[in-house]
Amino acid sequence: MKKIHLKTSLSLILSLLVALTVLLVSIFSGIFINKQFEEYVKNTQKNAAEELAESIGSNYDESLGGFNLDYVHGMGMYALKEGYIIRLYDRDKNLLWDAENHDMMLCHEVMDGIMTRMKEKKPELKGEFVSYSYELKKAGNLNGILEVSYYTPFYLNENEFQFIKALNIIIGFVGGASILIAAFLGVIIAGRITRPISGVIAATKKISGGDYSAEVKTDIGDLETYELARSVNSMAETLKEQEYLRRQLTADIAHELRTPVTNISSYMEMMIDDVMEPTKERLSSCYNELSRLSELIKDLERLENAELETVLADKEDVELLGLCGSILQGFSTKISEKNIEAKLEGKEVTVKADRIRIGQVVANLLSNAIKYTDEGGEVKIHVGKNEAGAVIAVEDTGIGIPEKEQNLVFERFYRTDKSRARKTGGAGIGLSISRAIVKAHNGTIRCESSPGKGSIFTVSLPLE
Ligand code: ADP
Repeated sequence: MKKIHLKTSLSLILSLLVALTVLLVSIFSGIFINKQFEEYVKNTQKNAAEELAESIGSNYDESLGGFNLDYVHGMGMYALKEGYIIRLYDRDKNLLWDAENHDMMLCHEVMDGIMTRMKEKKPELKGEFVSYSYELKKAGNLNGILEVSYYTPFYLNENEFQFIKALNIIIGFVGGASILIAAFLGVIIAGRITRPISGVIAATKKISGGDYSAEVKTDIGDLETYELARSVNSMAETLKEQEYLRRQLTADIAHELRTPVTNISSYMEMMIDDVMEPTKERLSSCYNELSRLSELIKDLERLENAELETVLADKEDVELLGLCGSILQGFSTKISEKNIEAKLEGKEVTVKADRIRIGQVVANLLSNAIKYTDEGGEVKIHVGKNEAGAVIAVEDTGIGIPEKEQNLVFERFYRTDKSRARKTGGAGIGLSISRAIVKAHNGTIRCESSPGKGSIFTVSLPLE
């Protein structure tokens, strides 16, 4: 299906909405104003007829006992020109003055004029000349009857028709101009809304093409588009980081695999070429390298899980002293094998945490402490509280870590030279996993150590 631009559809919708509103307002106001005007004309004509009656009625001269017919004539002729045909009777119904009798030609001319105009321009009115009778009274005495006939329900003269026409043209013009302005504003508003979205589209296209440096401007648009731009920027940032980590990880893995594989293949090659005897020692050296490889593979699996470490299970109340005790118990064989003295001290502290993950951190630290401590050494776990929250400190009297390496040990695959020389330990993943878990709990992990004397790894966790 062919998609149209958001800007176009928004402009269309906005313009159509406003156009419809303006159209309806114009139509209804037009109808209303026309109706009001007609009502006004109707009332004016009725009032004019009444005023005629009143003015002629008040002209009755009691002393003469009759109407001043000159006056009636003047009024009658004036009224005729305005479209009112009058007929005056005395109280006994004797005709005194009749516009038709007086000037039949003019009467018919006026009547025909009105009828033709109204039938032509307002045929729906179906109007006709109707006579209305008014009793002419003075001081309660009936002096005569005036019959006024005019085009009913109402009629409009040429000027009034012109006025209505002009009014309708103005309403139409205002309506048309409003629609044009609305369309113009619609285009501007739609542009304002869609411009930042176009920026987002351009940036996401670049990002999907691998250009993570693409950035969306956040200084235009409204709150939602600002949020959208910010999310896209932070998505690009995360992708960039992920990409960096992925490369780093690949390089690290290659580096870690290279040594054992090179060792094994050179041994094998020499044995195959009979340069070297496949002695038990040499085979077991190969076996050790293979074991290192298999450890490495295990570590990679742990790493795979570690990528998920930020996804914690539901936090629960975890009492740390008890947790450390049971973990220490699990290491008892190794501890006694190395004749290490292990201690657990401190007080009970409860935190909200993922029990398994925090247990994993303690186990990593304890395993390192045992691994890097010589026979007869000492390992101590201290559980307590400080201003930052709960604290677990794992202390040993082992080989220690040089100061400049103390931060690096938390990086993936990092192993100190000394530990490499010892041929103990894994691939340098445990501490990086531990740090990620602690971070996911909003805690911190740090290392203090003096080479040759020992190390303390301290984990702080918020209590809530
Ligand atoms: P590994 O599996 O190699 O022990 P870790 O990530 O747990 O990996 O530790 C990284 C490195 O930090 C170790 O290889 C070692 O060099 C150093 N390290 C960790 N704990 C200790 C410790 N208690 N004493 C001395 N060195 C340590």
